Amino acid sequence: VRGARGRGAADPPLSIQVHGAKVHNLKNVDVTVPLRQLVAVAGVSGSGKSSLAMGVLYAEGSRRYIEALSTYTRRRMAQAPRASVDSVEHVPAALALRQRPGVPGVRSTFGTSTELLNVLRLLFSRLGSHLCPNGHRQDPTIDVAAGLDLTCPVCGVTFYPPGAESLAFNSDGACPQCTGTGMVREVDEAALVPDPQRTIAEGAVAPWSMFGLTVMPQVVAELGVPTDVPYTDLTAHERDIVMHGPAEQRHISVRSKNGKFFELDFTYRNARLAVEEALNKATTERGLSRVNRFIRAQVCPACHGTRLSEQARATLVDGINLAEATAKTLDELTAWAPALADALPSEMRPMARNVVATLLETARRLVELGLGYLALDRASSTLSTGERQRVQLARAVRNQTTGVLYVLDEPSIGLHPSNVDGLLGVMRDLLRDGNSVVLVDHDVQVLREADWLIEIGPGSGTEGGTVLATGDVATLGKDPDSLIGGFLTGREPVLVRQRAVRDKMFDQGRIHLSTRPLHTVRALDVDIPRGRLTAVTGVSGSGKTTLILESLIPALQAQAAGRALPGHVAAVDAQVITRVNTVDATPIGVNVRSTVATYSGILDDLRRAYAATDAAEQRGLTAADFSYNTGSLRCPRCEGTGQVSLDVQFLPDVDIPCPACDGTRYAPAAADILRPAPGNPDDGISLPELLALTVRQAIEQVGDIRRVHTRLQALIDLGLGYLTLGEDTPALSGGEAQRLKLATELTRNQSGTLFVLDEPSVGLHPLDIRTLLEVLQRLGDNGATVIVIEHDLDMIANADYVIDMGPGGGTAGGTIVATGTPDDLSRDPHSVTGRYLSHHLH
Ligand code: ADP
Ligand code: ADP
Ligand code: ZN
Ligand code: ZN
Repeated sequence: VRGARGRGAADPPLSIQVHGAKVHNLKNVDVTVPLRQLVAVAGVSGSGKSSLAMGVLYAEGSRRYIEALSTYTRRRMAQAPRASVDSVEHVPAALALRQRPGVPGVRSTFGTSTELLNVLRLLFSRLGSHLCPNGHRQDPTIDVAAGLDLTCPVCGVTFYPPGAESLAFNSDGACPQCTGTGMVREVDEAALVPDPQRTIAEGAVAPWSMFGLTVMPQVVAELGVPTDVPYTDLTAHERDIVMHGPAEQRHISVRSKNGKFFELDFTYRNARLAVEEALNKATTERGLSRVNRFIRAQVCPACHGTRLSEQARATLVDGINLAEATAKTLDELTAWAPALADALPSEMRPMARNVVATLLETARRLVELGLGYLALDRASSTLSTGERQRVQLARAVRNQTTGVLYVLDEPSIGLHPSNVDGLLGVMRDLLRDGNSVVLVDHDVQVLREADWLIEIGPGSGTEGGTVLATGDVATLGKDPDSLIGGFLTGREPVLVRQRAVRDKMFDQGRIHLSTRPLHTVRALDVDIPRGRLTAVTGVSGSGKTTLILESLIPALQAQAAGRALPGHVAAVDAQVITRVNTVDATPIGVNVRSTVATYSGILDDLRRAYAATDAAEQRGLTAADFSYNTGSLRCPRCEGTGQVSLDVQFLPDVDIPCPACDGTRYAPAAADILRPAPGNPDDGISLPELLALTVRQAIEQVGDIRRVHTRLQALIDLGLGYLTLGEDTPALSGGEAQRLKLATELTRNQSGTLFVLDEPSVGLHPLDIRTLLEVLQRLGDNGATVIVIEHDLDMIANADYVIDMGPGGGTAGGTIVATGTPDDLSRDPHSVTGRYLSHHLH
């Protein structure tokens, strides 16, 4: 580290100095980032916050960290490329907590990912009462902790008590039937005969016809099953032959295509066997999905979903086994554990208190982060991204690092205002241990707590990329250049749209939903006003997702398709709703072939417009030739992806812009075909050139094409005018992806459409939120009903109607606490959300 020489250990650098940062849109930025403080980076979406935080600070911090490792280790890790920056001084080793942590595997649970399960296993192995091989129960003894074998006083056997490893479901303690996943896949007999009114000859047994076993009806007839009566009329014995009959050979005659008969021997494949064999043979995704319709994932009957072998479940602490302990929520576990030591022989208590203290300390952080309602055995794959990110954060604090730079991307995602204090507490813990924290966030509640702010802007993309203001909250509040300052001081107005009044709320109709209990959510009855903007609020785990995404949406979809409602939905009444649209923040497209131009539908119109030019007609080119995916004008070297893979020895492949087309995706010939600019027939632009322009620049060039104009304008209205047309959509941030999806909807008539947005404020500056509210207003003006699941107080305050869930998370929640206008809510003493809303509005 340059500049470090000559300093004493007692005189560490106080700040990171960044000079000449040019990553992405950053315009040669110089900035000072204080160390060992809570530093927040603010700015509108696309202004360059992540480019600074992740692209410069984290990239340099992690690269230096990797350089310090041995050559051997280094080669085996993905080498971060050097960031485009003149110099970065005093940057410590950096760790990043990503906004969207990866999808966890089937053996990951809340308990494993928080390491709480390790502590709990230790507790069971050391403090538990075990069974001897003859089934006699042994009282807990200090000998186990000392690593000694036990002798059973009843039968005299000497045995090894189970170690922590023998209690692990991803190791020796796994249930043998499900190998520790808690689920087994079984053939679903009901699905094998989807229409029991049919006869076997008519194809009643679906897997036979689907997997090419067309002679099975004849074989089963030889086994004595009538094939010309409806399946429902078969006797139990006959159905048993269809489902489970033995694989016996039968002699049948088969008629070939030219009408001749053959005598052949066939081995009987019962319906289940047909599916199992198909499952074993399936190699492709499509093949698997064909088989999957006959298969049902079921809770493992051997371990009842606990993932643990019978042996692992035999050890008891305080009368319960490990499976029962992990079924407890964190809140229940912290209430249960403290008294455990007192029940043990006195010589064991110090050790017991030690283990319990470790358990409680780990649990405390997670509870502070608002996760106390989660049970340890909850599969990680069912946790929300916000919950997973907070698990990561708690683990980082637990590891007690020092001198590390933590770079966090919007840690307030999914956090109710009442949990933000817990989040800030964890940040303070990181700082107290001697670390530094840089976070990108929009939540005003979080920003106000920062020791230092760096504001990037003023606009997005090329209109951003400079440092607008730096300083503490008070300084930014007074700085005329700062865009966020007014929101920090409360000078900026909160209400930006005309909200519906209470008496007229249901004038356009309502969606009525009535549910039965699911997870921890009780049976509920709820009315959602049609044609309005409704916010569903409540602390994490209170039941918002269960009510909207797991009940309302599947119910409406089932109703639209004429299917039965999901079991946990008692009734839904929404005749006026004909289309449901969930606009989430998941990435658009998985490969580089999806771009802003293709996703928004603009490229199709542009291809036709280019094919209609004189230049194209002279060369006989059609719209199809202008496709970079399949057209004759695509770059042959990169096949229209704009990238080529570089195979570097010892290093993972790196993608670089295609040297043949410079990343434009088109062959040189495409550059010759110019489309005259509107109002200036002598000037023109080629399609590859056009795709390199931003949306805002492009509308000047091709705004004369009506449909293109409408679509580009919708992108601009959503604050996406800074995106370039040829930009890969998978690289867009979650918020950008969500708004791009919304933009494609803006131009349609929306009457009868229900839009559901899960936390649309993610990644949005208060100014971006105003833009989003305008868009939602337009959807409403076009007849749409909009539901947002939200924590952002600006969004909630501007909604017409609020449904507040809670009061707590998990078993402490699951009810509707209050409904009404935001003003109703802010006056409701029972609503925690209302309390925060009241502060925010006044
Ligand atoms: P913010 O974090 O403020 O939302 P970003 O730093 O993500 O903004 O983006 C700033 C600009 O850089 C935007 O115009 C964005 O489209 C562009 N950008 C971001 N990531 C990349 C990338 N991997 N390659 C090229 N441009 C990028
Ligand atoms: P919110 O969206 O308000 O955060 P959720 O509807 O996701 O709340 O969760 C409500 C309750 O249901 C929580 O206690 C949560 O742990 C539980 N829960 C949610 N999904 C599942 C699931 N797939 N399996 C078990 N419990 C679940
Ligand atoms: Zn099992
Ligand atoms: Zn190319």
